[in-house]
Amino acid sequence: MQSQSQAQTTPASSSSTPPSPPSAEPTAITLLSRLCPTTTSALDLHHVPNDKAVFSCAKCSEVLALQDELVSKAFMGRSGRAYLMNSTINTRLGKREERKLMTGKHTVADLHCASCGQELGWMYIKAPNGEQRYKEGRYILEDAQIVKENNW
Ligand SMILES: [Zn+2]
Repeated sequence: MQSQSQAQTTPASSSSTPPSPPSAEPTAITLLSRLCPTTTSALDLHHVPNDKAVFSCAKCSEVLALQDELVSKAFMGRSGRAYLMNSTINTRLGKREERKLMTGKHTVADLHCASCGQELGWMYIKAPNGEQRYKEGRYILEDAQIVKENNW
C-alpha cells in the first residue's frame, strides 16, 4: 500500500548515532516499583479477620483481595465480568506492556496468583488520559478466576 512515510529508514544511516536509551516514561517505572512491594506486603494474608469478605483464587483458594477494596464491578476482563480493586494480596505482577483496551491504550501488567500462578487479570500502571487516571495503580480481577467468600 502507500504507507511508507514513517517506516522506511535506510538501514545504514543510523550507524553513527550514539546509543542513547529512550527514557520516555520514568514515571511508570517508578510507579511500578513503588507499588509492587507495597501491595503484597501492606496486608498480611494470614491475618485477614474471619469476618471479612474476601475474593479468593478459584484454583487454589488463596485469598487475593478484601471485598472492602472493591472500587467497581462494572469492568470487563478477557473472560467477562471483572472487578476493579484498590489493592490485592498474594498476587504477583507479570511483564509490563502496552495494551489497547476499550477505553484506549493503557500500560498494564498481568496479575497472577502468587500461590498457584493462575492469571487473574491485570494491573493498570498508566492510563491514556486524565479521565482514565483513577485506574492507575489499581487492579482488575476477573470474575471467572476468583471466588467470592462472604464470611459474615
Ligand atoms: Zn491460586
